[in-house]
Amino acid sequence: MYGRRRMHAAAFTLFMNVAVAGLFAASYATIALMHPAQRAPIWFAVCYGLGMVTPLAQFGLAYTAWTTFFGAVIFLSLAFALLLLVPALAVFYGSRKPWPAVGAIAALTLLLPVIRAGLPYHPLTYQSMYQAPFTLAVAACAWVVLRDSPRHRSDFVLAGMLVVLAAHFPVKAYLLVQMGTSRTAKYIDTTYALVSQVSSGILFLATGLILLLKSVQAVVRESQIAAETDVLSGLLNRRGFDSRAERLIAQAKGRPVALLILDLDHFKSVNDRFGHSTGDAAIRAFAVLLSRTVPPSALIARLGGEEFAVLLDRTGLEAARLQAEAIRLATFHHQEVGLPKLTVSIGVAAPASSHLLPEAMERADAALYEAKRAGRNRVCCAAEKTAPAVPLAVVAQRNAT
Ligand code: GH3
Ligand code: MG
Ligand code: MG
Repeated sequence: MYGRRRMHAAAFTLFMNVAVAGLFAASYATIALMHPAQRAPIWFAVCYGLGMVTPLAQFGLAYTAWTTFFGAVIFLSLAFALLLLVPALAVFYGSRKPWPAVGAIAALTLLLPVIRAGLPYHPLTYQSMYQAPFTLAVAACAWVVLRDSPRHRSDFVLAGMLVVLAAHFPVKAYLLVQMGTSRTAKYIDTTYALVSQVSSGILFLATGLILLLKSVQAVVRESQIAAETDVLSGLLNRRGFDSRAERLIAQAKGRPVALLILDLDHFKSVNDRFGHSTGDAAIRAFAVLLSRTVPPSALIARLGGEEFAVLLDRTGLEAARLQAEAIRLATFHHQEVGLPKLTVSIGVAAPASSHLLPEAMERADAALYEAKRAGRNRVCCAAEKTAPAVPLAVVAQRNAT
């Protein structure tokens, strides 16, 4: 009676493991379908899909006479599901797939049962050799995360989870021997089956949740980047520029920062003479020229039309004027087959603090207007402005206290 109940418990856990692996596979597949640019979720879906085969085959082992066949399916499906997770994580972190390591573990996975069959039966050796490919595959996953991830807190949590998962396989080998389960006992009737299925189930669930969370985070990041990127030029758009510029100025804490507003001269006539698509190509070419001319730390954006903005970190007004001159000259001398020659007018201003960015944009815009009025193809600087002084009334009040 007790044995039967234990069997039911193990069978129920097996069923839950099939369902949970299936739910994860379906979730990753949904993310992959909805966001084709994300390449890792389809790999995760395949890993968890293959992982479903393992508990399913346990049913075959328990309730059919094909024990050798289902035994092999259980072993191989789990080993290869875990092994596929290694390149899947490399895809997730956009790094090199460690095929030599994966190949070596795959070869060992196929060789170990043959070696094991030729050895005299010793419980711990036998069980350790059975669990070894799983441990190695998951340890390789942890290594990929620690090697390639940007190492945010969630990456350390994932690596830690994988280390625990890798370590639990040899513990299971030891446990199986301690529990005295014989090689011939029907797996599903054993207490070990229950312990093994519950512990593995929980660890695979936790790992799957972290991977799902990270996949969703990647999707959110992708949408955020798309929302802040200008499609034509690949530069930041107005929204991206505003949020990053405010952050940069706030972090500058008194360090000089300078703002350039740039507008291509007589661009309407470029469109009129060469057509809109040549105009688009000229905008793209100017974006490339701008990116090559300013320092890598600069924020560059296409604010709209043929108007651009550059925020220069650690740059005073005079240095910013020289930088703007360099851009103007580079534009003036730039020549590209099939594209019209362009000139640019630039307004320069220094924002006094992050909440004064709109005000600095206005002053840079006014300076740009000056440059246009003065004949175009030139740089104009707005007068330097510091943070607003503390009102006199406040000073008087402070002195009085
Ligand atoms: P200036 O700035 O020197 O005063 O003269 P402009 O002719 O460049 O005048 P303005 O900046 O006001 O006009 C911008 C023109 O840029 C209007 C439009 O024909 C063109 N334009 C705006 N957006 C795009 C775009 O996405 N692609 C192309 N090809 N042209 C654009
Ligand atoms: Mg213009
Ligand atoms: Mg314009």
